[in-house]
Amino acid sequence: MQVTPVPSETHEVIYRVSDAETGLLGFIAIHSTTLGPAAGGLRMRPYDSVEDALLDVKRLSEGMTFKNAAAGLSLGGGKAVIIGDPGTQKTPELLRAFARTIQSLGGTYITAEDMGMTPADMAILATETAFVAGLTEGEFASGDPSPITARGIFNAIRTTWAHKHGSDALTGVTVSVQGLGNVGWHLCEYLHDAGAQLVVTDVDAGRVQKAQSQFNARAVAIDEIYAAEADIFAPCAIGGILNAQTVPMLKVSVVAGGANNQLATDQDAGRLHARGILYAPDFVANGGGIINVATEVEKIRDRRSFVAAKLQALDETLKNTLDQASKRDVSPADVAIATVEAQMAAQAA
Ligand code: NAD
Repeated sequence: MQVTPVPSETHEVIYRVSDAETGLLGFIAIHSTTLGPAAGGLRMRPYDSVEDALLDVKRLSEGMTFKNAAAGLSLGGGKAVIIGDPGTQKTPELLRAFARTIQSLGGTYITAEDMGMTPADMAILATETAFVAGLTEGEFASGDPSPITARGIFNAIRTTWAHKHGSDALTGVTVSVQGLGNVGWHLCEYLHDAGAQLVVTDVDAGRVQKAQSQFNARAVAIDEIYAAEADIFAPCAIGGILNAQTVPMLKVSVVAGGANNQLATDQDAGRLHARGILYAPDFVANGGGIINVATEVEKIRDRRSFVAAKLQALDETLKNTLDQASKRDVSPADVAIATVEAQMAAQAA
């Protein structure tokens, strides 16, 4: 097993982790421990290159610093990636080797489930490290965070819609949802129950068909979701989908969804703002999941009350962010980032 620091000017520390015996190659990135131990999930993907994996772990771990801070948690930002196809290259030995590295960091990084990982994989990690959350069994096990993530996004949609149009009622409002996975599906349930009309897309045709029958949703092709006739766009699949090509296509007045790193570049927040499209910053809108995970990390007994209080506080944070952004005529993303930076500077002082 080899654990080698990767030089970085933006992160506290990044480790390259490799193990010839199990074929393991990955990274653990600790962006910031200013507010607490760095918490963020483990992702396994067949990245095109080692550089791509490094870039991903850097972006995602920085995003976790912002998400955890915005959610009012005593957690810093970190993330881990393993390079490989989770369908064919994920073995218990490889996961255990990675878990031993996490354990060797002594709790400065706490992992959880992300793309390419399952609750069963978290249980394997837990055989070698105490610094894993998202377990399905055990005294403080918090299980699947997706329903809470979706609840937080639903709140964010209502709050952002109300800020723009004066009422949080979603009856007859059309929401386009990109991605019908764990988060997108639960979100559709909330939206449907609230009387919203749904326009959906997913690369998985089965999920689309199910949404058509269960929610009376209108289905569009993958690349048609951006120009779909809708009031609100909820990205719940992949990152980087708000960019120079897609923003001009949008017909909505609000973007609020669950995907991480929705903006391809910092300029894309400005692009949305210039078009009068109100954007709920992703790391604020999708903080429900990490709030749920935090109950396990912090060994909270009354999980329900903790989650409810933190979700409400998150909603207040979003309201304040939108108010400030309107007053200053800037993107809510700029306000949300500046707020977290000020919070961290105060903590570090
Ligand atoms: P998931 O893998 O369960 O679902 C993603 C869905 O998107 C899948 O159904 C997939 O087929 C679909 N998809 C992939 N590419 C697509 C494309 N180009 N167009 C349309 N659909 C596409 O993942 P998830 O857990 O639902 O997470 C969704 C997003 O939310 C991710 O960006 C994730 O990082 C973020 N997120 C998830 C949580 C959580 O609690 N699961 C928390 C915070 C953020």
